[in-house]
Amino acid sequence: MSRGLPKECKVVIVGGGVVGCSIAYHLAKLGWTDIFLLEQNLLAGGTTWHAAGLVGRLRTTNSMTKINKYSAELYASLEKETGHSVGWKQVGSLIVGRSEDRMKQLHRTAAMAEWFGVEVQIISPQSAQEKWPLLRVDDTLGAAWLPHDGKLIPKELALALAKGAKQRGVTIFEGVNVSNVLTRNGRATGVQAGDGIINADYVVLAGGMWTRELGLRCGVTIPLYPVEHHYAVSNPIPGASDELPVGRDPDLCIYFRGEGDAVMLGAFQAHSKAWQVSQVPEKFSFQLLEPDWDKFAEPLANGKHRIPALERSGLAKFVNGPESFTPDNNFILGEAPELRNLYVAAGFNSVGIASAGGAGKYLAEWMIDGQPSIDLWSVDIRRFAPWANNRSFLRERVTEVLGLHYQMAWPNREMETGRGLRTTPIHDRLAAQGACFGVKNGWERPNWFARDGANPEVRYSFGRQNWFSFHAAEHRAAREDVAVFDQSAFSKYRLKGADALPVLQRLCGNNVDVPIGKTVYTGLFNERGGFESDLTLVRNAPDEFYVITGSSQTVRDRNWIKRHTEPHERAELTSVTSSLGVLGVMGPRSRELLSQVTDADLSNEKFPCGTAQFIDLGHARIHAIRITYVGELGWELHVPMEQLAHVYDRLMAAGKQFHLTNAGHYAINSLRLEKGCRAWSAELSPDDTPLEAGLAFALDFNKPFLGREALLRQREAGLKRRLVIFTLNDPEPVLWGSEPIFRDGKLAGYTTSGSYAHTLGRAIGMGYVNHADGVTSQFIQDGSYEINVNGQRFAAQAHLRAPYDPDRQKILA
Ligand SMILES: Cc1cc2nc3c(=O)[nH]c(=O)nc-3n(C[C@H](O)[C@H](O)[C@H](O)COP(=O)(O)OP(=O)(O)OC[C@H]3O[C@@H](n4cnc5c(N)ncnc54)[C@H](O)[C@@H]3O)c2cc1C
Repeated sequence: MSRGLPKECKVVIVGGGVVGCSIAYHLAKLGWTDIFLLEQNLLAGGTTWHAAGLVGRLRTTNSMTKINKYSAELYASLEKETGHSVGWKQVGSLIVGRSEDRMKQLHRTAAMAEWFGVEVQIISPQSAQEKWPLLRVDDTLGAAWLPHDGKLIPKELALALAKGAKQRGVTIFEGVNVSNVLTRNGRATGVQAGDGIINADYVVLAGGMWTRELGLRCGVTIPLYPVEHHYAVSNPIPGASDELPVGRDPDLCIYFRGEGDAVMLGAFQAHSKAWQVSQVPEKFSFQLLEPDWDKFAEPLANGKHRIPALERSGLAKFVNGPESFTPDNNFILGEAPELRNLYVAAGFNSVGIASAGGAGKYLAEWMIDGQPSIDLWSVDIRRFAPWANNRSFLRERVTEVLGLHYQMAWPNREMETGRGLRTTPIHDRLAAQGACFGVKNGWERPNWFARDGANPEVRYSFGRQNWFSFHAAEHRAAREDVAVFDQSAFSKYRLKGADALPVLQRLCGNNVDVPIGKTVYTGLFNERGGFESDLTLVRNAPDEFYVITGSSQTVRDRNWIKRHTEPHERAELTSVTSSLGVLGVMGPRSRELLSQVTDADLSNEKFPCGTAQFIDLGHARIHAIRITYVGELGWELHVPMEQLAHVYDRLMAAGKQFHLTNAGHYAINSLRLEKGCRAWSAELSPDDTPLEAGLAFALDFNKPFLGREALLRQREAGLKRRLVIFTLNDPEPVLWGSEPIFRDGKLAGYTTSGSYAHTLGRAIGMGYVNHADGVTSQFIQDGSYEINVNGQRFAAQAHLRAPYDPDRQKILA
């Protein structure tokens, strides 16, 4: 149906679930009111209406917690504002723990929550039972209590947001299907709605589980897939009421709450079932899937264990609803890299009710300002490349993702499904030598190597894991002899054209107008002066640069550079990520080793640090770049992918006499921490500036660049936070990142990275120390520090310079 639809507006929002309604509400609140929201069926009839209505505030990152906190605050006030009740009840929530590891996780969670501004108390089993009298607690060790969490009626929430949007001028059409997005010159220009078209400046896809299909039609990657998700409601149980807190027992994969005079029991099974449907039916509205009692049998038994009254009550209702999940359990937000002015908000992984308020607000700001106002990288649509949108991959991956909400949040947990998608030509060689792989942006990367017949499998814990001694050996090999790292997953591009230099000069903080063959380390900054990326450039020719960035940023950085290149500028960006492999050859004996396999003069005079040359190695022609992220003499060898195996074999054959060791990304992490090297998405994010991160040396204020003015203002005003390296005094514990930092007993920040510094013989981490009245070097030095590791505080040393202080000449010589 489209008859009678107006022909144009500023924004078309596709989808009238809780998310689409929230975006409409927030855009209107910010002053954009010429908006049509198009819903193919009835508002809230997709996934929203049957959600359980749990609204938790705490998430694993500061930004995600901001989103959920904002949501909860909005929901509490929405009835007053709109006159439409959402049934909000601030009943609090409980997470019970029944193992030592789970209690450690709850302590870690509680410690971070304080920094995020969410109240969490660790309470005894008895106190948990006082809050939930029907609970069995004799097998629990304690619980986390979050007094400000709540619940509501999801359908009413969507309707209240829709009402609030309408009150501000948004027009909502139900019964209108959008079949495609109209595009011109790489921009969204409207939608095909029913049998007509609507022209619009902006299009927002908020179509829940239907969104992937809409994306495919207009060439936009939106990897999500529906999964069957279950809860049941009991018959009335004495003592049950709507006032009971929301409860979770992650070890038993269940949640529960009061529902009138009954109990609702929901499941997050470790292995779930993708909806077996060839395409999500258009008319699926206010419908459910067939009950799957087999899949619910285990959670039901667990529910009866935790709430014995369920044993006798029987069940009155079973809900099996489809909900979309993404490959990494984070939702998908932002402007599509493939199409300008096409925004996406979908794939909410069962937290769409709790997140809709904040997601709507931050997306509305993103649309109006043209950039997000906070670091939203964990949900940014640009984290996915087309490989992630393969249907059979998604179907397999999502069966693991639903359960992740309740699985132990091991700091280095790797996905188990959908593996082996992107491998380098030496993958099997590395596997045969004991590589234990992790995955980054689909690439299989060696994390560490099992030796002496050990099994290359991680046994997870919050302390030292089974690979500790292997990691130590790899770390030492790079410090004392030479190690080889497969770093092929790096994102790589070539920027070529008469305007390549001016484009990069405008985007990069550092001066990139360097002689041919020189490398430059630089950041790319947003207008706030925050890091959009950090990268290494090699000038290949007057009009050509080779650009190397992190493995996860392939789409993001490409998008950033392309979008900031004016149409008239001649600068062609080509991704060469998949055509070039990278072997890092690092360590004091790297020159000796490489000299065995190349005729090139690798002496300091002929091949100084920070330069690159095309050289012969074995029978291959490669690009050798003398840079180091691990703090040792070394070269990155950028090799045509089809010759990677040849080069690797030559290195390994020649390497025996130098004790050449295969080493993985865990060693890179500990080596770079000792050497003080920062990592994007850990220490460097859109919310962190180079002045705060201690990277002012890589800025050239003598030329204009994006973010310069904000950085000058910050330099003038002084810093309120600063990145510091910490080592623990006690040699036993390990750091993973996300541990709270205390300065003189007061919470001052949290670690952004962590590892074990084997050269120093103690744990190492980095993190920002915050202080509203200003942070100077003196302030850092004057403090005494502790880091909270799994609930226990350990004394730490703060370093403003790299704590591993090798003979610098050794690296440079
Ligand atoms: C059993 C279950 C329990 C849950 N419990 C919770 C909970 O307690 N807390 C929580 O936070 N989350 C929960 N969730 C998740 C939550 O329900 C979802 O994340 C949320 O509803 C997603 O909202 P949405 O607006 O993205 O999608 P939807 O509600 O599905 O809305 C999308 C809308 O877009 C429309 N649409 C799609 N394509 C088109 C098109 N081409 N043209 C026009 N219209 C279109 C659809 O008809 C639909 O109405 C639960 C989910 C399930 C299944």
